[in-house]
This record gives sequence, structure tokens and C-alpha cells, in this order.
Amino acid sequence: MNLKFQQGRWLKEFSTFGIGGPVRLFAEIGSIEEMEEALRYARKEKIPFLVLGKGSNCLFSDRGFDGLALLNKIEFIRWKEWEVEVGSGYSFSLLGVQTARKGLSGLEFASGIPATVGGALFMNAGANGKETCETVQSVLFLTEEGEKKIFLRQDLEFSYRTSPFQRMRGAILSATFTLTPSTEARPSQLKIVDYRMKTQPYKDKSAGCVFRNPKPDLPAGALIDRCGLKGLQVGGAKVSEMHANFIVNAGKATSEDVLELIKKIQSRVAEQTGIHLEAEIRMLNDG
Ligand SMILES: Cc1cc2nc3c(=O)[nH]c(=O)nc-3n(C[C@H](O)[C@H](O)[C@H](O)COP(=O)(O)OP(=O)(O)OC[C@H]3O[C@@H](n4cnc5c(N)ncnc54)[C@H](O)[C@@H]3O)c2cc1C
Repeated sequence: MNLKFQQGRWLKEFSTFGIGGPVRLFAEIGSIEEMEEALRYARKEKIPFLVLGKGSNCLFSDRGFDGLALLNKIEFIRWKEWEVEVGSGYSFSLLGVQTARKGLSGLEFASGIPATVGGALFMNAGANGKETCETVQSVLFLTEEGEKKIFLRQDLEFSYRTSPFQRMRGAILSATFTLTPSTEARPSQLKIVDYRMKTQPYKDKSAGCVFRNPKPDLPAGALIDRCGLKGLQVGGAKVSEMHANFIVNAGKATSEDVLELIKKIQSRVAEQTGIHLEAEIRMLNDG
């Protein structure tokens, strides 16, 4: 076995919230072969596994994860004219910048989203009216049984922040995206990043938007703001003053603080507007 397992690692090290307890075992995965090896090990030892991207959409429990946490660093990139094949651990933001710099359009929105390509596919990440699924052509997936499968775009049903991978057990290994040449790609990508920096609390520890927008023309952030909840705080967790759909770790927030604040926001918004806000972030509450 080539993989090096580590003990004594904490999920908070891999969470943009800076929250999360200890894991039983940890390994950094640098290649497709290592991911295969890790899932084989998990199968043999009958322990649950968790694939970590950049942890930018997860609320991990303070109790941690009693299993094998796999930090995805499968980071290769291969260019072929208007196509690009990338490892699932590649930075989605960097991919957005690099494609735009090459005059290729379709992933400009990715620049500034602190995700891996795998996490972006898993969540069908999106912004500025665009989604990850629009340019993906195929995805290489490893099932928990160890079978490698290629899914073509037409076999995959995506919707708003939802992908079929959320119902599968395994790991996204790599993906190919097909882009369109455009002289507008780079200027529009620069505008997107500039707008992000001005409107989102990038300097704070957060997991991005906490709630799904109830309707495309009804942003959850605007609803929360209208209900006067900016600045609402439970322990170290606080509704951002800059963007009401962000909860920030303003001090030593615990996962319970964030969960309680989420419930408070949901009940206040429901009382005042009759709308139930659904969480977008993944809550991984292993006991
Ligand atoms: C400042 C900030 C801004 C953000 N802006 C946006 C935005 O504009 N639009 C948007 O959609 N989101 C946004 N997000 C949220 C987040 O970046 C996205 O949801 C992103 O897709 C998560 O990617 P990740 O690699 O961090 O995944 P993680 O948070 O690490 O994981 C998310 C889920 O995907 C699973 N997963 C990850 N990789 C794999 C893999 N290779 N195989 C199988 N399962 C996997 C994990 O197990 C987990 O269940 C923002 C977050 C922050 C902190």
C-alpha cells in the first residue's frame, strides 16, 4: 500500500468555516490510483469514507467523523483545443480564470468560487445565471464498490444546486468540459470577480450561501435581509452584515452555534413571510 494514513487530523483544517472535530483516519489523495486504493481499504475495513474538496460548502460536526476522510488533490489538467480535462481536485476558481485567459467562455462564473472541480460538480455550483452542468461533457466516477464509470452529460440530470452524484456513493475522479471561444470571456470573468469581492464577505470564515433561493427571482439573502436578520448571532456564528445569506464564524463558532442560527433564521423568515428556507450547505453530523 502506497497511501499514508494519518491520525490526529481535524475537519476544521479542511473547512472554510473553520469548524469540525477529529477524524478517525485521514489521507491525502494525489491520483486516481490512490483514490482507488483508499476506497478499497475502506471496503476491506468496513469503515465509512468522506471525500473532502475545499470544504467550502460543508458544516462539519464538532464530534468529527468516525471514518476515513480523503482530501482530494487529484490536480492534473489537460488542454485540447476548446476542451479541458481536469482532475476532480483541481481548483474550480483557477479553472475559471485559466479558461477565460485562453479566450474560452463557459466557466467565467467559477472564478472566485473556492471549490474543487469535484465539489462544484457534486453541488452543481453556479453563479451569474450559469451552472457547472452547462459545460461539462463527461465525468469519470469511482463507485464505492471500486468500479470506474464514465457518465456523459446526457446521462446526468442536474438541477439548481443538485446533481445525481448527491445520490451516489463514491468519488468523482475527473471531468471534461467543452467551452466556446469568445473575446468577451476574460473581461466578463474579471467583472465577475470584482463584483464578488465587493458583495461577499471573502475575508470571513464561511461556507458561502447557507440557504437555497426559494425561487430564481427571490434570493434567500434578500428575504433574510428584509426580515432584519443581518448581524443576528448565536455564540460565535453570525449572519454576515455584508451578505445576509452568509453565516460567518465570528469567533469560536461551534457546529451547534451554526445549526441553532440556521433554525432561528428559518423560523423568523417563516413567521414573517410564510416561506420556508431550505439549507444549501451540506451538514455532515457524524456522531
Ligand atoms: C466565499 C464563498 C463563496 C461561494 N460562492 C459560491 C457561488 O457563487 N456559487 C455556488 O454554487 N457555491 C458557492 N460557494 C459554495 C461552495 O464553494 C460550492 O458549493 C462548491 O461547489 C463546494 O466545493 P468544494 O470542493 O469545497 O466541496 P466540499 O465543500 O468539500 O464538499 C461538498 C460536498 O461534495 C462532496 N464532494 C466533494 N468532492 C467530491 C468528489 N470528488 N467526489 C464525490 N463527492 C465529493 C463532499 O463529500 C460534500 O458532500 C461559496 C463558498 C464560499 C466559502
